[in-house]
Amino acid sequence: MIVVDTVQALRSARGNLAEPLGLVPTMGFLHAGHMALVDAARAQNATVAVSIFVNPKQFGPNEDFATYPRDLDRDLAMLRQAGVDLVFVPSVEEMYPADFSTTVDVGPIGEVLEGARRPGHFRGVATVVARLFGLFQPQRAYFGQKDAQQCVVVKRLVADLGLPLEIVVVPTVREPDGLAMSSRNVYLNPKERVAARVLSASLRLAEQHFRDGERDAETLRRLVRETVSREPLVRLDYVSVADASTLAELEVVDRPALVSMAAWVGRARLIDNILL
Ligand code: AMP
Repeated sequence: MIVVDTVQALRSARGNLAEPLGLVPTMGFLHAGHMALVDAARAQNATVAVSIFVNPKQFGPNEDFATYPRDLDRDLAMLRQAGVDLVFVPSVEEMYPADFSTTVDVGPIGEVLEGARRPGHFRGVATVVARLFGLFQPQRAYFGQKDAQQCVVVKRLVADLGLPLEIVVVPTVREPDGLAMSSRNVYLNPKERVAARVLSASLRLAEQHFRDGERDAETLRRLVRETVSREPLVRLDYVSVADASTLAELEVVDRPALVSMAAWVGRARLIDNILL
């Protein structure tokens, strides 16, 4: 496994890799969710590359950039074990040199849901992803359904700019009790960890009601709100039932829909979603 931390070293290593190349962008502190992306990339490409970069541009001023969990040695051991070929671990200065000035803005789909609560978040995501695509020139890139809006944003970016790669979305990997795996789950104390089950449980309940014929979006939102409100350690930020491709809120679930939510559990802000 080749590990590089400069753009120059990345370019020369990239030149020697067999095609097609699958890229898995991450912020590190890897878990089984990330490894599912790596496994999907391994299965579909001759070469697998992973980037590990905690991207300051996608964090707000009062968010957890400084305290975001990091463990590079453990991450590299996991990636080596999984048969990854190339890992890029740039510093902030390497990713964003002093004269860096471009911002990629995908417009309204980046301004609802997570984008409404985290202003500028998806500009940060789109900017770093566009740069990674330029540096790696992968044939495929892998993203998790866990970050559903990120998948919509990245697909929009690729379609609008005509970038020559395929975006592959991998299903959310969950803990046995349903909690979506996340690097931020380490922020939870044992009681909060138990309480956090209510996120996925409330989504599963909404899915069950949908299967039983419920089509009124507000009824499904209310169901999630009421379920979460019974868990005192969890404070719901929002729940949305939206068109899965435009992210516009629905009144009636008469097309593919994304039920998404964010909630505070202690100091952790967790997100989860399901597709209907
Ligand atoms: P992050 O390191 O949190 O930026 O995540 C890197 C990639 O892994 C993103 O595409 C995430 O959507 C994906 N990912 C994170 N958690 C999960 C999960 N539980 N299941 C599937 N993919 C995930």
